[in-house]
Amino acid sequence: MPTATRARTKVTAIPGDGIGPEVMRATQQVLAAAGAEVEWEEALAGAEAFRRGIAAGAPQETLDSIARTGVVLKGPLETPVGYGEKSANVALRKTFEMYGNVRPVRELPGIRTPFSGRGVDFVVVRENVEDVYAGIEHMQTPGVAQCLKLITEVGCERITRLAAAVAQAEGRRKVTVATKANIMKLTEGMLKRIGEQVLAEYPGLQHEHMIVDNCAHQMVIRPEQFDVTVMTNMNGDILSDLAAGLVGGLGVAPSANLGDEAAMFEAVHGSAPQIAGKGVANPTALLLSALMMLRHIGDFATARRIEHALYVTLEEGKDLTGDIAREGEGVPTAVYVERIIANLGRESGAVPEREYRPIALKRWPQITWYRAASTRELVGVDVFVESERDPRAISITLQAAAEGSAFDLTMIGSRGAQVWPDIGGHSFLVDHFRARFMFKEPPKGNGIAEITDLLQRIGRQHNWMHIEKLQRFDGADAFSKA
Ligand code: NAD
Repeated sequence: MPTATRARTKVTAIPGDGIGPEVMRATQQVLAAAGAEVEWEEALAGAEAFRRGIAAGAPQETLDSIARTGVVLKGPLETPVGYGEKSANVALRKTFEMYGNVRPVRELPGIRTPFSGRGVDFVVVRENVEDVYAGIEHMQTPGVAQCLKLITEVGCERITRLAAAVAQAEGRRKVTVATKANIMKLTEGMLKRIGEQVLAEYPGLQHEHMIVDNCAHQMVIRPEQFDVTVMTNMNGDILSDLAAGLVGGLGVAPSANLGDEAAMFEAVHGSAPQIAGKGVANPTALLLSALMMLRHIGDFATARRIEHALYVTLEEGKDLTGDIAREGEGVPTAVYVERIIANLGRESGAVPEREYRPIALKRWPQITWYRAASTRELVGVDVFVESERDPRAISITLQAAAEGSAFDLTMIGSRGAQVWPDIGGHSFLVDHFRARFMFKEPPKGNGIAEITDLLQRIGRQHNWMHIEKLQRFDGADAFSKA
């Protein structure tokens, strides 16, 4: 039971769009009935904000409220067609640098799935701000597109420490780092390397690495083996949805977005416009998100009380909303909420006994993170050129261009495969080639004059789109081979 002396914690409530206001009201009713010491500050974001001309989808008052409270419970947000391409969700995540997405995946009583009875109970921790989702894209030629996958050491360290903190807060024992390090050795390999280094500092936690495609397979074949998993942004996006599917789908999946400045709790589902305003939406996902929020603010007792009442309600299977009820037995949201409230104080045997502690979030100083190298060498440059000719013909013009420059042409690649010198194989060719030029001898200065000279020579015959310097840091190649 909450103690009378507990100060009320201010929380920003963003009802959002579609069914958002309905599931928010339902959740707030349950929290109030359970005695949660929360004071709501209601704030606007989503479709209405866009219609008022606010490009980010959230007005300044909403951002001010979040900055003040540091805790948000949020309904789904829509970006109405014709109001820009930016999503208010992404804007909120980025404004408050909520770098970690935490998605519990736990079997719920009464929600029948092909995995029922297996005791699925793990957490997916997903990096939330880096990777290809930074959205840095460029058309290279009219028919070839590129997206930059940016991964940082500090980003990998932050997300791994968050995964470890989640494991510790929930008394879990194992962290699985899932990456595609076998192919993307520098980017995905960075999470593997940093993850292993960081997790070695936590003697109470076992850790392992798993290739992410096998991780997807293992989640379906033997999901009970997982405890906490950690992944880069896109992998985590895909596997967290897959994982939600194991235990009843997005409609009952909660989530938290965590960062230094703010924590935002939300259901994974969207605004379900088809059923909005009908009073039949299922508030379970937002309610489960609110339980994560209560634990975040330290109200473990109320979270436990509500969790048991919810589990009892689901177990009994009476008065459930249409999406989870047996055929033809769905009730309105309000009836389901009344049932949960009536069950407050009852205990369910299905809730795993867990000693929850607050997630010990590290504060990351707001500095420009700089990583020194004791030696740096510039050894060459990759120049990306557009050409409709064949690799042999391109090699002749590029070699002629490099004649008398500081470089030798050593390789031409097409979408990662070497196509000159010919090593056999049947690469399908498109009008986008990577030409690798190596310095004949180390440049005296910073090499810029030599590179500029080379680009001018190449530019006389070929359209080039971009270049990448080939560097060595601390004596190791800082680029992939062909
Ligand atoms: P959705 O999750 O809204 O709906 C998918 C299906 O699940 C629909 O059949 C819907 O009726 C059902 N459903 C979802 N939540 C339910 C609930 N609580 N109770 C009962 N049934 C539920 O996904 P969508 O249709 O792809 O998206 C609709 C809108 O929501 C889009 O504008 C999208 O951009 C937005 N969206 C927002 C968020 C967010 O704010 N985090 C997330 C996803 C989608």
